[in-house]
Amino acid sequence: MKLTYLGTAAAEGLPAVWCNCPVCRNAKEKGGREIRTRSQILIDDCLLLDFPMDTYMHMLAHKLDLSKIDSVLITHAHMDHCYPQEFILHGAPFAHKMTRPVVTVYGNSTVEKTFKEYTRAEIRPDIAPTAPVSAIKPYDNFDTVSGYNVTALPAKHTVDEDCLIYSISKNGKTVLLFNDSGILPEKAYDRMAETGSRFDLVSFDCTYGHARHGEGRHMGTLDAADEREKMAARGLVHADTKYVLTHFSHNCLLSHAELEHREKELGFIVAYDGMVVEI
Ligand SMILES: [Zn+2]
Ligand SMILES: [Zn+2]
Ligand SMILES: [Zn+2]
Repeated sequence: MKLTYLGTAAAEGLPAVWCNCPVCRNAKEKGGREIRTRSQILIDDCLLLDFPMDTYMHMLAHKLDLSKIDSVLITHAHMDHCYPQEFILHGAPFAHKMTRPVVTVYGNSTVEKTFKEYTRAEIRPDIAPTAPVSAIKPYDNFDTVSGYNVTALPAKHTVDEDCLIYSISKNGKTVLLFNDSGILPEKAYDRMAETGSRFDLVSFDCTYGHARHGEGRHMGTLDAADEREKMAARGLVHADTKYVLTHFSHNCLLSHAELEHREKELGFIVAYDGMVVEI
């Protein structure tokens, strides 16, 4: 399984849209890995985790054929993870010679509602059926067209909707991807242990950088380290499991270079836009 971290920022981007803080000024000046777009992960070339407004930029930066995507897993309806307007263009006359005619979007009932609201005015009646939304709930398990087995798990992020994170398996490899989530309920880890899950890669929300946020709606590296212990205690990870941090905010007050320096010794890979990890 190949994971491409197309974007690694929290909602405001880094540099943030309207910001002049030292971290954002440093990112503008240095460029390269200091620049982070809104969070999105491409798995192989046919499955996407989240669909932010920067998806178009990700297509440009990586010369992607987005029409190869058959499934999009959405964590929740916040604007940096769910930008339905782009699906208005999913077909002729806006797109020709597409590799696949249909893309299925998976998300909670709020995501389903948001898709309808944000596309209703402009989507053509012949395009609407090419991007169906499949409403899912925590602990649902399903297979995508390309043969990934996916389990939705309950994220801790906002009380307004049932936010999700996803466990994704194919060909004997399994990844667990957090995007916008605090620590998981113990029950979620217990359920994963009962089903015999074993993760080859775990990707954590790290909005707060080198910090412990405890019971909040995001995580820092020290929360991720705590979660890693909980998984290890239940046999959910192994000696070669890779641990990645992503979804960074400028409010963590650290540059990519500083984060990499700090978190490497704790055994974490600090994601950057364009990073590829193969398992
Ligand atoms: Zn976010
Ligand atoms: Zn800033
Ligand atoms: Zn959010």
